[in-house]
Amino acid sequence: MADPDTLPPVREPAPARDWGTALPSSKADPIAATARHAPSQPPPKLYEKRKAVHNKRIDGWFRRFKWLVMLVTLTIYYVTPWIRWDRGPYAPDQAVLVDLANRRFYMFDIEIWPHEFYFVAGLLIMAALGLFLVTSAVGRAWCGYACPQTVWTDLFQHVDRFVDGDRNARMRLDRAPWGPKKIAKRSFKWSIYLVISLLTGGAWILYFADAPTLFSDFFTLEASSVAYATVGILTFTTFWLGGFMREQVCIYMCPWPRIQAAMLDEKSLLVTYKEWRGEPRGSVKKAKKEPEKYGDCIDCLQCVAVCPTGIDIREGQQIGCITCGLCIDACDRVMADIGRPRGLIDYATLDQCEAEARGEETPPPWKALLRPRTLIYFTIWGAIGAAMLFALGARTHTELTVSPDRNPPYMLMKDGTVRNAYTLRVRNMEARPRDMEIALAGLPAGSLMWTDRIRSEDAAPRQTVTVPANEIRVVRAYVTVPAGNPVDAFAFTVTSLDEQRERDTAETTFDSPVSE
Ligand code: SF4
Ligand code: SF4
Repeated sequence: MADPDTLPPVREPAPARDWGTALPSSKADPIAATARHAPSQPPPKLYEKRKAVHNKRIDGWFRRFKWLVMLVTLTIYYVTPWIRWDRGPYAPDQAVLVDLANRRFYMFDIEIWPHEFYFVAGLLIMAALGLFLVTSAVGRAWCGYACPQTVWTDLFQHVDRFVDGDRNARMRLDRAPWGPKKIAKRSFKWSIYLVISLLTGGAWILYFADAPTLFSDFFTLEASSVAYATVGILTFTTFWLGGFMREQVCIYMCPWPRIQAAMLDEKSLLVTYKEWRGEPRGSVKKAKKEPEKYGDCIDCLQCVAVCPTGIDIREGQQIGCITCGLCIDACDRVMADIGRPRGLIDYATLDQCEAEARGEETPPPWKALLRPRTLIYFTIWGAIGAAMLFALGARTHTELTVSPDRNPPYMLMKDGTVRNAYTLRVRNMEARPRDMEIALAGLPAGSLMWTDRIRSEDAAPRQTVTVPANEIRVVRAYVTVPAGNPVDAFAFTVTSLDEQRERDTAETTFDSPVSE
């Protein structure tokens, strides 16, 4: 076991942020209200300059889990546009594609048309509910592991470590005056930031067009100006937010921590410092001398040194804590070194902490997952997911919509028949051309139909049209009803003439002198 006295040098805790002096109440003290505006008193400072966070390298269970999540999320982001998916000759072969030009969203075997946007809305609702579910179960785990700001900040912090060294070396370099060595290191580091940012912005546009084509067009300067502008904006935001703003985004810019704070309760799993066990703090030497006087925290500040947002979890729950668990790894390591049980900082609910402080047995942390709130979120989330899967499975790839002509509403033909005209939109959502049969339903015998592609002499109750792959074919249809048949409504049906025999029906009106 390592000698605790040889633990790495500690630094003083970061001074608490200065939020300014509370303003005196003008109601309670009108003189104070006047004094507040007196020129001799400068206004309270509302902005504090950012203090760079140089978090220390740490290894442990949570750090390894963070590595894994980073690897998976970055791989998904950069690789997905390159995955090919065979949909036949009439559809793009990119597995995930937002085809804005043709207004389609492709995701492997799923193809979403604009009129099916409710699937996208359903996915967004599921994503929001998923966040609620995760927050109620394991606190801000999204922020700690999977949020893009966290993932890219973590990546950039590894670049810092790779170029400038670990915490102490980075702090020294920060304080050092500008000179050739510092300029060279900074230039090298910022170049790596720039490459990562460029790759990030570049990967994004590949989701909106055929990736190999756009990739070569981009470098031969044949891509659209929108593509270059998008890459430019995303490169800049990644470079700035991931490279320089970092925890400022989580603490000041992102609304999600505020929403989450309202969603947490005493039964949510949080990264928590067990004050009852750690306090009062004292160095190992002091604790050895008077063991009954000190708690387990030896005030080594390792938990602060590894924190990516630079906060001290021992001060209680804070908006800056993204619950990444790195302070747990650091403190567990210290506890192992000084021979005390792990878990001085741990994932725990506030209820559990209180029970532990009273010396009571507490259930294992995973039991906090099974409570009414998380089960309700999970049930709603699962129900929406099941409904969407059912709707996806049950949808047909053939659709028909009908608009009757309003001007004129009907025409009286020489032989006394009444003619109405309609605009039909026949949708073929398959990636191959298909023959479709359009038929009349609910009209008296002798009713006929012809379209803009055939002569009225060839009128019949059924007509066949060919609809190209993945397209909507607009058909002008003329329907005649023999004289003396008062009809005011009927339906068009469309049936695919293939092995699937998909069918859709659209009801519409029939105008005649009788119905006026
Ligand atoms: S909580 Fe743990 S890591 Fe943090 S100062 Fe105390 S002993 Fe050190
Ligand atoms: S306090 Fe701990 S859990 Fe919270 S952000 Fe810092 S290292 Fe992560």
